[in-house]
This record gives sequence, C-alpha cells and structure tokens, in this order.
Amino acid sequence: MTADKRWKSGVFPIAVFQGYTSHFGRRRGPDGRPEAHTGLDIAAPLGSPVLSWWTGRVVETIADGSCGIGVVITSGGYEHIYCHLKGQRLRRGQVVRGGQQCPQCYRPLMFRVQSATLLL
Ligand SMILES: [Zn+2]
Repeated sequence: MTADKRWKSGVFPIAVFQGYTSHFGRRRGPDGRPEAHTGLDIAAPLGSPVLSWWTGRVVETIADGSCGIGVVITSGGYEHIYCHLKGQRLRRGQVVRGGQQCPQCYRPLMFRVQSATLLL
C-alpha cells in the first residue's frame, strides 16, 4: 500500500483486532445509569501496538477523566482521539505518520475521529 493510499483511507488503529467491546452512543455505565460513550472500544490482545490512523500532529495528551490515558492528533481538519491506553509516550507538538506505532501505546483502546471544529 502506498503512503498516499494510506493517507486517504486511514489506517486501522490497532494491529491485532478481536472485535469491539463498546460502541459509540448511549450505554449503561458501571453504576447502572445511562451514559454517553464517546468512542469505539476495540478489543485486542494485551500489549497490541496502537497505530496512528492518519499522519498528523499531537495536540493534546490526556491522563485522566473518562478517557484515561490518551492522546489527540490533528490531521487536515480532523481530530483522531485514542483513549483507555495502558500507557503512551507521545508529546504535544510531535508529528506522527499514518500507520506509525504510538510509542508505548498499548491496548485497551478507545478510538474516535471527529471534525476539529464540530463534534460529530
Ligand atoms: Zn470507551
């Protein structure tokens, strides 16, 4: 696959796929109450590398809240967000290529793509 094709189609963000454990939208939370889940949880074996969906720049690293450990990358007007990571070592301002492994990013993973200006 050429770099251009990867750029246009994006790269699936986890190398070893075992299905989805939670989908985007409303669900019942751990306390039994309805809640909004803002991403797609992807199952994979422990230690599976997480890959950048597109080439872009890290604009935010996250370490708490409902995301847990995470990172936000921007690419051409879109943000791709990676949450529920076991760890991550990217820094704000760092450029990553599409398909590049996020250093020390391991599943579990929650993934979301959104317009940088409008929450889809
Ligand atoms: Zn989740």
